[in-house]
Amino acid sequence: MRSALGGPRLLLRRLREISAESVSAQARLDKIVVQIAANMVAEVCSVYVLRGDQRLELYATEGLNREAVHQTTMHTGEGLVGLIAKSAEPLALSEAQDHPAFSYKPETGEEAYHSFLGVPILRGGATLGVLVVQNRVRRVYSEEEIEALQTTAMLLAELIASGELQAIEDPGALALYRPTSLRGAPVVEGVGLGYALLHEPRVIVKQLVAEDISGELKRLEQAIDAMQAAIDELVAHGDRMGAGEHREVLETVRMVANDRGWVRRLREAVLSGLTAEAAVERVQNDARARMQRQTDPYLRDRLHDLDDIANRLLHQLTGQSYVADRNSMPENAIIVARTMGPAALLDYDPKRLRGVVLEEGGATSHVAIVARALGIPMVGLVQGVIDVVETGDPVIIDGATGDVHLRPANDVQSAYAEKARLRARRQEQYARLRDVPTVTRDGVPIGLHMNAGLTIDMPHLDETGAASIGLFRTELQFMLAPRFPRMDEQYHFYKNVLDAAGDRPVTFRTLDIGSDKILPYMAKIEEENPALGWRAIRIGLDRPGLLRMQLRAMLKAGGHRDLRIMFPMIANVAEYDAARGIALRELEHIRRFDYPAPRSLKLGAMVEVPSLLWEIDLIAQRADFLSVGSNDLVQYMYAVDRDNTRVAKRYDTLSPPVLRALERIVDAGRRANTPVTLCGEMGGRPLEALALLALGYRSLSMSPSAIGPVKSMILSLDIDEAQVFLASLLAADDGNPSVRARLRDYAVSRAIAL
Ligand code: PEP
Ligand code: MG
Repeated sequence: MRSALGGPRLLLRRLREISAESVSAQARLDKIVVQIAANMVAEVCSVYVLRGDQRLELYATEGLNREAVHQTTMHTGEGLVGLIAKSAEPLALSEAQDHPAFSYKPETGEEAYHSFLGVPILRGGATLGVLVVQNRVRRVYSEEEIEALQTTAMLLAELIASGELQAIEDPGALALYRPTSLRGAPVVEGVGLGYALLHEPRVIVKQLVAEDISGELKRLEQAIDAMQAAIDELVAHGDRMGAGEHREVLETVRMVANDRGWVRRLREAVLSGLTAEAAVERVQNDARARMQRQTDPYLRDRLHDLDDIANRLLHQLTGQSYVADRNSMPENAIIVARTMGPAALLDYDPKRLRGVVLEEGGATSHVAIVARALGIPMVGLVQGVIDVVETGDPVIIDGATGDVHLRPANDVQSAYAEKARLRARRQEQYARLRDVPTVTRDGVPIGLHMNAGLTIDMPHLDETGAASIGLFRTELQFMLAPRFPRMDEQYHFYKNVLDAAGDRPVTFRTLDIGSDKILPYMAKIEEENPALGWRAIRIGLDRPGLLRMQLRAMLKAGGHRDLRIMFPMIANVAEYDAARGIALRELEHIRRFDYPAPRSLKLGAMVEVPSLLWEIDLIAQRADFLSVGSNDLVQYMYAVDRDNTRVAKRYDTLSPPVLRALERIVDAGRRANTPVTLCGEMGGRPLEALALLALGYRSLSMSPSAIGPVKSMILSLDIDEAQVFLASLLAADDGNPSVRARLRDYAVSRAIAL
């Protein structure tokens, strides 16, 4: 068996010389294939480049018919070259024509060649093309030769990514620069236009070929040692970890970093003539290509870990910062990340943030909660986005549909720009409504309140003109904290919230954790049905220590003020009584120890478990106020998981069963003279809000962005007439699963702003 002439080191050196020559891109490519063929002792060397239309085009060849250059094309998956592009794996054959995927292109004259070795040209896991050598004789390519060709392909990847090849074909023809649209999961509504900012910037490896191999080996080893020491340090000081960096993850990372096979492959890559950072990139490319094809979620995760480690190592070697430099953040930044903790998002200047795109991270992820609070459009679960985007690429995201457009074409850009302008104009109109009293056309005043959960929400109170915070979800602060917040931390947090609210009341809800709201530092409990499991007030009553601590912090923070506290997931009156008992005992404690007590204390029950509807008069008499959690109430009434997209749209909230249940609650409140508010998402949608007012609700709490639209609906509504109309729909009792269409027609006919 023949071995490569001069080996990869010599080839890399020659290729680097060619890269430095000032010749045209085509001439450079032509010289490169000649060099590779000579070095690999092959009669043929060809480069195929992936175009934007997903066809592979022959860009240069030594040995095949030159007339075929820029003429021969094939789609990915077609023939051996297409197979390599699709699988992103090398393919070595001593008799190419025996392979089932072989397809014959007569114009190339390749029938004379028997053996075939092709490798993908990869960059960041994306396939940019295919590099092939062929021999006349039947021969077996050695492992070293396959490795050498893969290393060579890296240089070609850089050449393609440099943009130089664009000069050969029409600009924008290559896959790398083409507009690309991806679809993820909608997380936070809104349109974002801007420029990509990779949260973990890709390290650009400028020098691929080593000047001094033993020096590079030393650099590699030092970097591995330093990285391992840094990881050990993180593991040892678990309490200083940011949210999201759990011990478990770091332990895995440490394990991978110590993986001998991985370290050996890195060393071999350096020995083949690469710099230390190029060696990391070379090994990382393989792992990424495997990751793309891996369908097993466990193995995908492990490959992700490997990718993480490689990234850390690259940063270690180049001294480049591991996260994007906040100071050089563009004016309109769309943050793109594989995954991201909520604290990391808060580090960016929100004024310059236009959107967030994550490969992981669905609607319930913590970072989503922060993005929602900041009002930044977000799309999650966008597979593979990191591999096809570069910092600075123009990006448009649509948080309502989950669409992500990279390098969008002009028509897409102008369509979205128009959409964004319309939205901004509407926002201005809503802002002008801020100080207009919320009264219906027939003179009925309505209380519009705001839902909040973080201190960054508080400025919205002024901006929207909301009457109060109708629901403060205290668990968000717990979810973002690295450990269970101590009493004094909770006290300061609640005090800050109350101070920020000024004269306007705040209704705190006690901890509503469990189900999808997990505290990373609390032992995870495996439950078959977490939504029906140990959560919210159930935890509070079973572990009264936690509830007591929270109540005490709230009562202290509420000194000299009117304080409102409500309990989530109350299933019966007895649970409310028990929770109330604990709160009153805490109040006693405060008084006994001479802390300033609240001026008044109102305790409420959330109505979100259907069983409470059959004790609704009793609870209305006992509680100081009721707040309907329609998100959960509807989920439990219809036995439909609120986060399961497959069934989420199956039943309508505007259906007779839900509306009758809601009416029952508001009626009980009226009979007992107990105020009733609704704080679920439906209250923030104009048509649903219309139905609620028609049922008798006079107070709604919603996300800040919903206040403007709901207010303009109210200002155009005649509530008496709407009440009669909705009553007639419900009285019809016609088995129709939804009143939505008829209610909408009604609203349109009355020019009610929806
Ligand atoms: C609800 O269930 O409607 C509610 C307001 O609470 P959460 O969405 O926090 O469960
Ligand atoms: Mg709820």
